[in-house]
This record gives sequence, structure tokens and C-alpha cells, in this order.
Amino acid sequence: MHSTYKDKLDRRAGACLECAKEFAGGDTIVSAVFRAEGQEEFVRRDLCSACFEAAEAEPFSVWRGTHPPPVEDQHRVDFDLALRFLAKLVEEPEEGREGLVYVLALLLSRKRRIKVLETRRTAGGETLVVSVPGDEEDAVVETEAPTITPEAVDRVQAQLAELFGFEPPPAAETATPDSPAEA
Ligand SMILES: [Zn+2]
Repeated sequence: MHSTYKDKLDRRAGACLECAKEFAGGDTIVSAVFRAEGQEEFVRRDLCSACFEAAEAEPFSVWRGTHPPPVEDQHRVDFDLALRFLAKLVEEPEEGREGLVYVLALLLSRKRRIKVLETRRTAGGETLVVSVPGDEEDAVVETEAPTITPEAVDRVQAQLAELFGFEPPPAAETATPDSPAEA
């Protein structure tokens, strides 16, 4: 039932997406999130160091790990990369990303990776005040429940599932296209 989703998880751990070289024990794997061209979404690419250094596109956020991941971690959420991504979204706020910031903050707080300082009921719904760990210091972020459609929330959740391994929304299991998103 989860095969499409699981295939993605398995594929990204095994080999460099650029040169297809299989990762060997001890290899550095660079997990980078790039802006996808021509759309507002992001794509994740797991690359060997050489291919990452040679990449022309500027990554939005980056995490370096070592192959293989510990056995118990193989199907985990990539919290380190997700946290960096959130920190970057917060550093460079952009219109239209409110939903992404809110849903990611909510998911990370549920997994106890970021601290909720306050939850406020506001006219528009709910506002979360969270502490996001940064490279140098933590950032306090206020994010308001976005006034977007449930479909848009699902889309954001599906994107976060694909990028970082969060639980996909129930509908995404069948709706996720199985085409490579790299461009
Ligand atoms: Zn490579």
C-alpha cells in the first residue's frame, strides 16, 4: 500500500542521484533541498560529495550525513534536514509559504523536535509560537494556521513526506505521482 512512498525512501538512501554511484560505508551523503524550477515546490536530492560540489544550482538547505544510516534510522524522518529547511524558510520568509512553515512547524513540534512556546487562538484560527534551532541561535517564530484549503494542506503534507519522510496525508498514498521530480 505504501510502495511508492517506500520506494522513494529506499532509493534516496542507496545511490547518488546524479552519477548513480552506489554509496559505500563511510561515504558522505549530501542531502540537499533545491527549489524546483518553474514551480513553487522544492525537490530533495541525495548526492555524493563530488556531484554536490559540481552542482550548478544553489541549494536551499543542506545536510551532510554518512552512509549507511544506523539500521534503526533507515525509515526515520530526516529531522536534521527538516530543521535546517524550516530555519531557512524562517530566515527568508516568502509570500505563499505560510502553509509550508505552519505545517512543518506543527509536524516538528508533534515529534518534539522544536519547542512550542505558546499556542494562541486568534481571529484567523490558531497561532503557534515555536523555537527553531538555528546555526548560531534559536529563532522564535510565530506562525498562524494558514487560511488555505484542506487540499492545499494535503499538498504541503505530501511534499514534506517526500522531502523528509514525514507521514503522508492519507490521500497522497494513491495521488503521489511516481515520476522523478528532479529537473
Ligand atoms: Zn555522484
